[in-house]
Amino acid sequence: MQTELSAAWRNTVVGDEAAQILKTCVHCGFCNATCPTYQLVGDELDGPRGRIYLLKNVFEGGEFGTSTQTHLDRCLTCRACETTCPSGVRYGRLLELGREIVEERITRPVGERLLRGILWRVLTHRTVFRLLLRIGQRLRPLLPRRVAQKIPSPVVVGDWPATRHARRMLVLDGCVQPSLAPNINSAVARVFDRLGISLLRESRAHCCGAVPLHLSAGEAARDFMRRNIDAWWPLVMSDVEAIVMTASGCGVTVRDYATYLADDPAYARKAEQVALKVRDVAEVVADEMGSLADWEGINGNRDVVFHPPCSLQHGQQVRGMVESILSTVGYRLHQFPDAHMCCGSAGTYSLLQSEMADALRKNKLAALQATDASCIVTANIGCQVHLASEAEVPVCHWIELLDR
Ligand code: SF4
Ligand code: SF4
Repeated sequence: MQTELSAAWRNTVVGDEAAQILKTCVHCGFCNATCPTYQLVGDELDGPRGRIYLLKNVFEGGEFGTSTQTHLDRCLTCRACETTCPSGVRYGRLLELGREIVEERITRPVGERLLRGILWRVLTHRTVFRLLLRIGQRLRPLLPRRVAQKIPSPVVVGDWPATRHARRMLVLDGCVQPSLAPNINSAVARVFDRLGISLLRESRAHCCGAVPLHLSAGEAARDFMRRNIDAWWPLVMSDVEAIVMTASGCGVTVRDYATYLADDPAYARKAEQVALKVRDVAEVVADEMGSLADWEGINGNRDVVFHPPCSLQHGQQVRGMVESILSTVGYRLHQFPDAHMCCGSAGTYSLLQSEMADALRKNKLAALQATDASCIVTANIGCQVHLASEAEVPVCHWIELLDR
């Protein structure tokens, strides 16, 4: 797609990157076939090709306003379009670049600005979020159903094994996961302990940056990234083998730290080193499958269905790994239609675009529950909480099945 950058963007890092991406799009429209919002709304401007035209217009200096912002807001950033695209268009990156510009130029109504500001500050502040969650859990019987269903019940957290192995890996705790589902990381620590790996935590590491990125607060996101790099750096330089991600939404962001911090001279090289160490928990377990030989078939054909988060299958292009691990240890995995489609969680999307998010969840749960599996498993805390709020069967992280 030929792009004439406006004078404001010509010969700039952002403009050049956007032009490079735009150039690869041949506007064939194949991507619309797998775009959840296009499938729901049927409007070209709520599909990837239409949004690419809107973003091209932004970089070419054309007029744009709230309508452009609305169509960009409705994008889930699920990146299903990237998996489908035959030309390798990096749509997700183009959207991030464009959204930040639109956010700066178009003033949102006061209520929206307030909500978005509160959201990223509360969601990324562990203590405040935990306190509000505890209050919500206590008051749940008094809350309206729509609010109450979003608040998960408290969970029992198992022990974290002592550090006793020569092999060590580091795990990201993240922002909301330690409060919503603290058992996920301790389950990973126990499974890794059985595999001869000690899992370390670095309490100064925080939100990976995904939450502010979803809200087009790019500078706040990059601040979180720098903080995490500072917190991890001594361990990255030590014998720690990997930085393990247990929420695929965080994994897709940290893997891209080098892109986000490419023009920061103090952090660009460090960001590359950090990104090289990132591994999803499934990648680690899959590599250690040899050590799992004594676990083969132990789960007696229990039926489960795996919902692959978009951030895992499209964002990180990790596919089939969780299914293969669970099958090896004896779970019977069910297939379901449209597994490539987003469940509607998508970071803060379910809170800001609730109508679209609810419709996508309804479709996803209908497909998952039609399998009659006794449990739904996934690999991202956002999907887990979003699906669990309406599911008729338990929803958990797949690693908790392995831990059991
Ligand atoms: S993003 Fe890819 S699939 Fe979509 S219109 Fe462009 S080239 Fe075609
Ligand atoms: S990221 Fe997802 S919602 Fe957004 S345009 Fe691509 S497929 Fe559609």
